[in-house]
Amino acid sequence: MANKNNNIVVVFDFDKTIIDVDSDNWVVDELGFTELFDQLLPTMPWNSLMDRMMKELHDHGKTIEEIKQVLRRIPIHPRVIPAIKSAHALGCELRIVSDANTFFIETIVEHLGIRKYFSEINTNPGLVDERGRLRISPYHDFNKSSHGCPRCPPNMCKGLIIERIQASFSKEGNKMKMIYLGDGVGDYCPSLGLRAEDYMMPRKNFPAWDLISQNPTLVKATVRDWTDGEAMEKILMGTANEIISSDEEEEKEKMLCSDHCKISVVGIVHEPLLPLSLQVPLHLVK
Ligand SMILES: [Mg+2]
Ligand SMILES: [Zn+2]
Repeated sequence: MANKNNNIVVVFDFDKTIIDVDSDNWVVDELGFTELFDQLLPTMPWNSLMDRMMKELHDHGKTIEEIKQVLRRIPIHPRVIPAIKSAHALGCELRIVSDANTFFIETIVEHLGIRKYFSEINTNPGLVDERGRLRISPYHDFNKSSHGCPRCPPNMCKGLIIERIQASFSKEGNKMKMIYLGDGVGDYCPSLGLRAEDYMMPRKNFPAWDLISQNPTLVKATVRDWTDGEAMEKILMGTANEIISSDEEEEKEKMLCSDHCKISVVGIVHEPLLPLSLQVPLHLVK
């Protein structure tokens, strides 16, 4: 199907949004390192801990192939992939913004056959070094400088990523509406940066939803919550279709207005012969 861009950017969080669990916990738990993870968690930032856990896995003889095998059987709700494909087919541009890492996410989306639907994956770099150990680095290098957002972990402020996406669209002069889907604490910051014409889709009863519910007036975007992949698909498609038809309406009105305005420029203002709603928009006339 020809993919006509409709000026909607859909931003997906990854863990507990696209997939049904947290990929970091999944790998650690499935390979039997939960206890060590829980012990170390109070002592360092999550992102640094994941790099440390990859060292532990490597030191205990766990291979990259074993990690990949675990990632390939990660649970995902059966309606999430259809939701992604339908949003893409409608002409939405899809992006991932995640605090997981490139290695986990690329392995999973390639296995699921959905890599091609995403134009951008913003996450922490994950690279296999020469000894076959996965190294996970921060998206934002906090050793050099702080990103300055007090709400977010030192390695990533998703709000700043959203700001950059918004700025790149306005620089190109494109009007864009964003639909943001997420569940976690880290998805709260970007929800505060969405504009009135955007949509926030927090997963119901998860931390982002809790934070939004505590003070709903802080979020300018329309908030639509969802519970599982099935609800996500319905609400995402409903919202995208709604935006597309309201944009089409706006286009039609512009056409009618410019037609009417041309007449008044000449100095003689003609009343429309038909009510506006019955007039044929210019672009429908051959
Ligand atoms: Mg998440
Ligand atoms: Zn932030």
